[in-house]
Amino acid sequence: MHEIQVHNTLSGKVEPFVPLKTDVVHMYTCGPTVYDFAHIGNFRTFVFQDILRRFLKLRGFRLTHVMNLTDVDDRIIANAAAAGIGIRDYTDKYVQAFFADCRALSVESPEHWIRATENIDSMVELIQKLQKKTYTYDSEGSIYYRIAKFKDYGKLSKIDLSGIQTGARVDNDRYEKESARDFALWKAPKPGEHFWETPIGPGRPGWHIECSAMAMKYLGESIDIHTGGIDLAFPHHENEIAQSEAATGKPFVKYWLHAEHLLVEGEKMSKSLGNFFTLRDLFGKGYKPSALRFALASVPYRRQLNFTFDGLQQATSSVDRLRNFAARLKNEKFPSGKQKAMTERIDKAASDFDDGLSDDLNTAQALAAMFDFVREANIAMDKGEFRQGEVKAAQQFLATFDKVFAVLEDNDAEKLKVLGYDTGSDRTDDAEIEKLVSARQAARQKREFAESDRIRKELADRGIILEDTKDGGVRWKRK
Ligand code: AMP
Ligand code: ZN
Repeated sequence: MHEIQVHNTLSGKVEPFVPLKTDVVHMYTCGPTVYDFAHIGNFRTFVFQDILRRFLKLRGFRLTHVMNLTDVDDRIIANAAAAGIGIRDYTDKYVQAFFADCRALSVESPEHWIRATENIDSMVELIQKLQKKTYTYDSEGSIYYRIAKFKDYGKLSKIDLSGIQTGARVDNDRYEKESARDFALWKAPKPGEHFWETPIGPGRPGWHIECSAMAMKYLGESIDIHTGGIDLAFPHHENEIAQSEAATGKPFVKYWLHAEHLLVEGEKMSKSLGNFFTLRDLFGKGYKPSALRFALASVPYRRQLNFTFDGLQQATSSVDRLRNFAARLKNEKFPSGKQKAMTERIDKAASDFDDGLSDDLNTAQALAAMFDFVREANIAMDKGEFRQGEVKAAQQFLATFDKVFAVLEDNDAEKLKVLGYDTGSDRTDDAEIEKLVSARQAARQKREFAESDRIRKELADRGIILEDTKDGGVRWKRK
């Protein structure tokens, strides 16, 4: 096994990954703001953190991973008010949709999902700590963080502070990337707005305080990994560091990992350009969850991911190729025995796979390790050179691969059904196909060709293609 290396935004370098405690990794991921359905750009980042999580587990780490749900912010308050409902009712729909989308993309549940609105007390306590240490000032019922007092401000994003006006403050949750200004920790309620009555006054939290408060509450004052999309590095994560480290005097996060953004056909995704997609938009067009997961996972997280429909189509074929290979290993009978060259080939593929993921989650290299092997093994099988004694090791490698990539199980139809897309669910299941395939084989052996042709046609009508192999076996795939 190779040493795990990750790129740390804090140092700007690729570093060996050594957790603070040996046996458990404490990880925090900024979750979605649940004011709408999450889009495929969001899921680029969530699939990245899922790959990271799964790889760490594969390598034997125990994880305590927290993901928050930002269920109060300016947009949520405005949208809920416009819909004439409370923020809880408004956000619930999108929280449930987000969970369903995660299941569709096989994004594992973190150990803790937490809602901002259920942790207001912890945020208030943290603000009180900052007040005691004079990192705050009040203005018109709101409380601001005094950036000038925190000397390390800018260490994550390397922002140039020379242009900062001391005391310039900003109240909105999402402000310009380039401006480093005092940010709101606590916001006084505007007339008619949702607010909490608390020891620091009536109001609601700013966006940044929730992640500091919840990360430290669930994971401790110093945590191993914090992830998010690159747009969060500044100001959100910079502000998290300022809040947490000013309050505790300890380093907040050892490794900061940020995913580059997803573009669509080379352009920034936006509703006005008509290139904005939620998962549901793509599933509605007939694309499979596994293909989308594959497409999102296939580009290493620190490279921009250019999402294209061609790419999604290729991802569909790639997943099929892997599933067909797994089916071959399961269904075909190979000559008995083992062959040294193939044994070594499987070991090399497994080692290259681990090497790729260890190198700052180079998913492209990990996938190349798998696909090079599949190509060579398929050729060996076609030539009758693949031996039965290699099946187990090859299957083990596929299983290891799938612990991280999670695309092998043929469960797209069920997933789509759960989300309300009917993909022709009268689709024949694998066991039934295999029964028909065996019946056709038996008919052929008895030289009952009319019967074997009839079964072949029946399978074809159900969208199943048969390919006879050199060894007299047969493999099948869906059209
Ligand atoms: P939000 O719901 O806006 O708070 O975003 C949730 C996550 O998605 C954050 O980690 C963002 O950085 C990330 N994100 C937003 N847009 C994109 C994009 N186009 N590509 C990749 N990640 C994104
Ligand atoms: Zn956050």
